[in-house]
Amino acid sequence: MAECLATRLAAQEEQIRLLTREISSLRDGLSRGLNVADVTVVSPELETLRTENEKLRYRLLHLRRGLQAELQLEEAQGGRQQRAKCGKAPERNNSKPQQIHNGNDNRVETPGTKAADKNKKEKKQDKGQAAAGVKELNPWPGYVADRLSLYEQLKRESDALLAKKAADSKPITVELPDGHKVAGKAWVTTPYQLACDISQGLADNAVISRVNGELWDLDRPLEKDCSLEILRFDNEDAQAVYWHSSAHILGEAMERFYGGCLCYGPPIENGFYYDMFLDGQKGVSSTEFGDLEALCKTVVKEKQPFERLEISKETLLKMFKYNKFKCRILNEKVTTPTTTVYRCGPLIDLCRGPHVRHTGKIKAMKIYKNSSTYWEGRSDMETLQRIYGISFPDSKMLKEWERFQEEAKSRDHRKIGKDQELFFFHDLSPGSCFFMPRGAYIYNTLTEFIRDEYWIRGFQEVASPNIYNSKLWETSGHWQHYSENMFSFPVEDDIFALKPMNCPGHCLMFGHRPRSWRELPLRLADFGVLHRNELSGTLTGLTRVRRFQQDDAHIFCTMDQIESEMKGCLDFLRCVYDVFGFSFQLHLSTRPDKYLGDIAVWNQAEKQLENSLNEFGEPWKLNPGDGAFYGPKIDIKIKDAIGRYHQCATIQLDFQLPIRFNLTFVGKDGDDKARPVIIHRAILGSVERMIAILTENYAGKWPLWLSPRQVMLVPVNPSCEDYAKKVCKQFTEAGFMAEADMDSSCLLNKKIRNAQLAQYNFILVVGEKEKMTNSVNVRTRDNKIHGELSVSEVMARLTLLKQSRCRSAEEEF
Ligand SMILES: [Zn+2]
Ligand SMILES: [Zn+2]
Repeated sequence: MAECLATRLAAQEEQIRLLTREISSLRDGLSRGLNVADVTVVSPELETLRTENEKLRYRLLHLRRGLQAELQLEEAQGGRQQRAKCGKAPERNNSKPQQIHNGNDNRVETPGTKAADKNKKEKKQDKGQAAAGVKELNPWPGYVADRLSLYEQLKRESDALLAKKAADSKPITVELPDGHKVAGKAWVTTPYQLACDISQGLADNAVISRVNGELWDLDRPLEKDCSLEILRFDNEDAQAVYWHSSAHILGEAMERFYGGCLCYGPPIENGFYYDMFLDGQKGVSSTEFGDLEALCKTVVKEKQPFERLEISKETLLKMFKYNKFKCRILNEKVTTPTTTVYRCGPLIDLCRGPHVRHTGKIKAMKIYKNSSTYWEGRSDMETLQRIYGISFPDSKMLKEWERFQEEAKSRDHRKIGKDQELFFFHDLSPGSCFFMPRGAYIYNTLTEFIRDEYWIRGFQEVASPNIYNSKLWETSGHWQHYSENMFSFPVEDDIFALKPMNCPGHCLMFGHRPRSWRELPLRLADFGVLHRNELSGTLTGLTRVRRFQQDDAHIFCTMDQIESEMKGCLDFLRCVYDVFGFSFQLHLSTRPDKYLGDIAVWNQAEKQLENSLNEFGEPWKLNPGDGAFYGPKIDIKIKDAIGRYHQCATIQLDFQLPIRFNLTFVGKDGDDKARPVIIHRAILGSVERMIAILTENYAGKWPLWLSPRQVMLVPVNPSCEDYAKKVCKQFTEAGFMAEADMDSSCLLNKKIRNAQLAQYNFILVVGEKEKMTNSVNVRTRDNKIHGELSVSEVMARLTLLKQSRCRSAEEEF
């Protein structure tokens, strides 16, 4: 019936189109022949057409209403069938019809028939009806019901088992963070109950608990004597749980909206994302965010509990047979005989957890970005759609976050880089930056700064090759583990590759002649150009590039020298970050489960790292087990002007590379097979990335010493131009980035304003008086007026401020 109506409707539409066209052509004809103002007389022919058109419109409206009623009836019947299949009423499925084909592969085709489309438009016009509707698939993808019925059966069995355990419950003692001990019952008492006993406020704000150091669902019964901590959103781990739980909500919405196969949905630094495989369909469009958010809102409103269920891998492979990605995770990543799934509403997801108690805990949520990606980031694998979101326990926090995003956007280094003519990228060399003269000035000033420090701190700069025979990379281990990220090419009979790091080259330098303990510590520094073959899709501005330089150095030292070398490295980085104005966080990462080498060596080294950190006097945190397999490390995160953290510096110990390259030195005791330790260290990290961070940190207002626009000479009138030029030359010769504004068509105030907007640190105005006395009139980009001073005095002051790398030269002048 509906199809029949749709056909009729289409035919009527066509008729209307024809009529409209005819009317306009008639009107055009009339207006061409007559003066437009005179077209008051309408031909009887047009009049007839208009009347007919009126009637047709009325009929069309009538037909559309009929069709709509038909579709709703069908929808209601379909919904009933679906509910019967699920064994559970799908929550508020009051959606508008969207065309669905539930094939074997769960493919969902988007925009439906013309008729349905028109029907939608009609509904949009009809405000009262459209407002309540949340768009989603109807019915839901077939796998939802299948998954749920299997789950419910297993859940019943598990509940029975848990009830049995609860019946045989024994008393347990739970220790709270303040040392206080409370009584509980094994397999009965939950962290949430205990939180309620402490205070309802704590229970309400609790995101997750930590039981014996392990994150634990608030509603999961405690099993034995344990320690208990209740974590709120302000805790970093709790935040990750909160965002990960939000990813499930997004995942549920994505299944209900797109019907594809969910892949990974982890928390990230800024919220969370969920990846979905949409087989052969169109991608995700940002125009759909509103619909997804609306769907998420209904999920939140329903306060769907997160239920945990442990299931055997075998059964899980059955449960997720519709989703090859979840099966891949099960087969490749799950090494235990059982693992867990979590349910919220109709979504059952393979996940280790834990999560918040229910979806209602997510108070404010926003979907802010989408992109396409590959399964596990591998370009030879399936293309996935990634949707990013962020959520908070309070809508004010979301507002705050949005404001912050705006602020960050206005500071985006790509924008400032373009505005200030610092650098650009070109399609002909993706990921390799073109630094323009002003950008290159910043680049070189940064490396000069580090070079000056090297000189003071006993580092020796070397220059080493860019390309090496792959045999070198085999020795270093890069060929086995990193060759995908290296640019390699045949040279004569061998394969060569561009270096992705300097260390193997430095090992060759250390090993090229016998070494004595007297030479240690040997600190080799290298600004060599490095290349890493990042996927073109992941390249973003200066933060992710293919070509970069590092302030890289390798310290070859003895085991006993680790502590003092560490102190030197820490002092070095504090000096550099002070100049930039960054505060920082220190983390010590220790021996991981899978490590190489002698445990005694590890312990000794870790002890020395700890000592050096303690003596350094800044607070630091321990990341147990987070070290690399070849040695422990100290990670340093700097905090920028708007509170973002960036990982730049690393200090990494390496016991393995000296073994791989068989590096030895003659020890004090005459042992000629003594093994050095290598410390890899960098402070700026990639110079490219540091420029991005600094650009955004200063929002383009560079401190004098780094500024690519330091001094602007502004002559008051043409008669002073030669004098301005002369002074400008003096500043340029003294090493300043100086210019003179010779645009005589521009008024003085405008020139000053332009220079301030371009962020020239100092603006030197010269008129007849200054010309007579060999002086300049000094003002700053923030319009602070320092007044008339002799050129030599200004030169001396600016030189001092520049040399001392003063952060606020404009004020301190
Ligand atoms: Zn999860
Ligand atoms: Zn290295």
